[in-house]
Amino acid sequence: MAVPLFDPATPRAALREELAAALTRVLDDGRYVLGPEVDAFEAELARWLGVRHVAGVANGTEAITIALRALGVGPGDEVVVPSFTFYASAEAIPPTGATPVFCDVDPRTFVATPDAVRAVLTPRTKAVVLVHLFGNVAPVAEVQALGVPVVEDAAQAIGSRAGDALTGALGTIATFSFYPSKNLGGLGDGGAVATGDARLDERVRTLRFHGSPDKETFTDVGYNSRLDELQAAALRVQLPHVHAWCDARRAAARMYGDAGLGELCALPVPAAGADPAWNLYVVRRERPEQLAAALRDAGIGARTYYSVPAHRQPALAAYGREAVLPGTDEAARTHLALPMSAALARAQVDEVVAAVRAAVR
Ligand SMILES: *Cc1c(COP(=O)(O)O)cnc(C)c1O
Repeated sequence: MAVPLFDPATPRAALREELAAALTRVLDDGRYVLGPEVDAFEAELARWLGVRHVAGVANGTEAITIALRALGVGPGDEVVVPSFTFYASAEAIPPTGATPVFCDVDPRTFVATPDAVRAVLTPRTKAVVLVHLFGNVAPVAEVQALGVPVVEDAAQAIGSRAGDALTGALGTIATFSFYPSKNLGGLGDGGAVATGDARLDERVRTLRFHGSPDKETFTDVGYNSRLDELQAAALRVQLPHVHAWCDARRAAARMYGDAGLGELCALPVPAAGADPAWNLYVVRRERPEQLAAALRDAGIGARTYYSVPAHRQPALAAYGREAVLPGTDEAARTHLALPMSAALARAQVDEVVAAVRAAVR
């Protein structure tokens, strides 16, 4: 029996009728961009997160750029970002005119630490993009206590918790992606920016619509970064199920531990105080490519994601030339994603662990 790396389709299949009805409602309504479905989704997500304002945007990458612009980031500024992340976390910074400055991560948790951020702060640091990577939770309060605003990149972490709060509700402003493989995925691209600050929310809404607060006066060079009605309608159907799906991911992670995976490789460690809703289940072991190949031969989805971290990617290498990031290098060299989804069953987990055991013997 093959075990896929992820499986967004199975949990969604139970909602097929509801999704079809929602899409038909949009078709019949005739408003397709920033209409009543987007308004309702924004209000519902804000309530769900416990944050005052949510603005839908076109994707999770532009959400970061727009959040930074709303904070006033521009040319001459520096923005700190971990290098061990999906490339888009860092790619979103140069379009603001600011310079990305890379910080390290703890390879056990895959997220930045306050010390790693402090090490690269300068008088020009205007903001920090903290990535809740793989669903683990980065130390937002501790980094904000250093005196810089944090943009939470919660693209991989909707439904993760730190204490009583959800990721995306921990700092000044947060961004989400609804790319289909995320914990809340649309039927295409989508994103959102959440903030408790009404002034920042106004800035986001202006920037997402060509830099215009009223569709007549253009006060900023902004973006065409709007959320579609079809996406919002599909996201509204799924939002009430996200906590249950995230709990299923947490249960799958526990099953890996119970099945003895920790004897074969280093398991991902929840950050202090974090209750991660793992979007990807990423273990560490030497020579992960070799293990991945053996697992794929056994029909099990496995892959590395960020073997070349952002600061070594050709497009960003000029910003990363002087970065010394040992935790990043270790994570890049040793990480391997194993199957994870809200539909992962114990029998599948046992099969994955048996295949890992056979491969490393
Ligand atoms: C997916 C992702 C993004 C970008 O989201 P898109 O909607 O694909 O633009 C940004 N940061 C992280 C950590 C992601 O995983």
